Amino acid sequence: MTLDPGATGPSSQTDPGVGPLLASLACLLLVSVLLTWLGVVARSGASFSLLWPANAALVGILLRFYPRAGLLHLLIALLGFLLVDACYGTPWRKSLLLNGANILTVAIAWLSLRRQGLGPEGLISATAIPKLMLRCQPALLAGALCGGAAVVWLGGASGLKSTIMWYLAELINFSVLLPSLLTLPDSWRQCRQSLWRDRHYLGPALVLLLLVPLLHQYLSGPGLLVLPVPALIWLALSGNRFFTCLATSAASLYMFTVLDEQLLHQWSKDAATVYSFRAGITILALSAITTACAVAERDQLFARLQQVASHDYLTGVLNRGAFCEQAEQRMARHGGALLLIDVDHFKKINDEFGHPTGDTVLIRLCRRLETLLPPRALLGRMGGEEFAVWLPTGEPQALQAQAERLIQGVAEPHLMEGMRITVSGGLRRAQGAQTLSELLADADLALYRAKQEGRHRWCWAPLA
Ligand code: GH3
Ligand code: MG
Ligand code: MG
Repeated sequence: MTLDPGATGPSSQTDPGVGPLLASLACLLLVSVLLTWLGVVARSGASFSLLWPANAALVGILLRFYPRAGLLHLLIALLGFLLVDACYGTPWRKSLLLNGANILTVAIAWLSLRRQGLGPEGLISATAIPKLMLRCQPALLAGALCGGAAVVWLGGASGLKSTIMWYLAELINFSVLLPSLLTLPDSWRQCRQSLWRDRHYLGPALVLLLLVPLLHQYLSGPGLLVLPVPALIWLALSGNRFFTCLATSAASLYMFTVLDEQLLHQWSKDAATVYSFRAGITILALSAITTACAVAERDQLFARLQQVASHDYLTGVLNRGAFCEQAEQRMARHGGALLLIDVDHFKKINDEFGHPTGDTVLIRLCRRLETLLPPRALLGRMGGEEFAVWLPTGEPQALQAQAERLIQGVAEPHLMEGMRITVSGGLRRAQGAQTLSELLADADLALYRAKQEGRHRWCWAPLA
């Protein structure tokens, strides 16, 4: 997904045209204005904003949707900052100084992250979030130093206090907003699918999250900070990174705006309490998101392991174990039939053309069989040049037609140029058989008969 015209595909080298470029820049300006407006509204009389989502969100948007972003895009983002401030009548000196620090943060973070290939598939590892946050540090430090200096210059609070406050506020923004944008699903469909897949995690997590403001009415003190932990950790255990980021953003936003504001009034003379509260929110958010990334990595590795454990390495079809397991289950429910297939005179192919050519024949044979299989059928490699097919029907005439189609479909057109490769088969209906191995043994006898009768044919196994 990109808003950058001409950024994907072979056309990326060509000029995208002025229209789409202007439209993408207008989008960026609009986003920058909206984000800045949010920050300015949250400023609520303070010398600088309690909540400033624009910098972190713009970095995420540039990385995710503007792969060809450059200086022009940064200037457009800055223009958005300045326009909003101008509308709110912010003195130009204040606007220039604070937004200078903001755009510096955006520029440095974007420069340090743009070559990392960050996207929905990029943040799958336990170390991804710590690495991401480390790479953001130069931007956060530079922004905080300039922002702190700007506040002092504008006659605000102490330089050190302003710098630390600025840094911690940005740390929270970058900890929650940047991962949210980087893990945003590519399409609404993907989003819906993951919502449905992880509904058993999302539902309870939502309830637990909604309890936080309720409990907040009755509780006070340091325990407030950990109230969202059960919801966030439960969600993180699903491995759904985007929804964990979203919930973390909501919880952080709530705590940051409601509780942080209270703290600022309550403990205005105690900066250390506010620092520790802000650091606490950051640690909470990063722990949940890091857990989600680690679980996503584990799930991905497990899926890969399952694929390797159940599929034949050479041909990619089910291996013997997985085929037997799945065929047994399907047969118990639907009956059907089993067709054993063996390549004719395969040893000769190996001897004449070499083992690698033999391997290619097996791979092509599987691809061909896959195109010939009826819907819901299963194909597995039993070993060597022997394959098994579970056919979902038990109806003799349909089975006859399907077996014929498979045996003849392998021979013509030729699998390899100048080589006529044929297969023989033994077909056994599920009816009357006790177990899968009995069925396989019967199909094997029928296959043996087909070989004896001249190959390139198939035979019925008699029903027991
Ligand atoms: P028949 O028509 O009676 O089945 O004769 P055949 O030559 O196909 O049967 P045979 O059992 O004599 O030979 C099977 C050969 O398949 C022997 C073995 O080296 C070869 N083979 C088994 N697995 C592989 C493989 O993964 N790759 C290749 N290239 N050859 C394999
Ligand atoms: Mg053979
Ligand atoms: Mg064989």
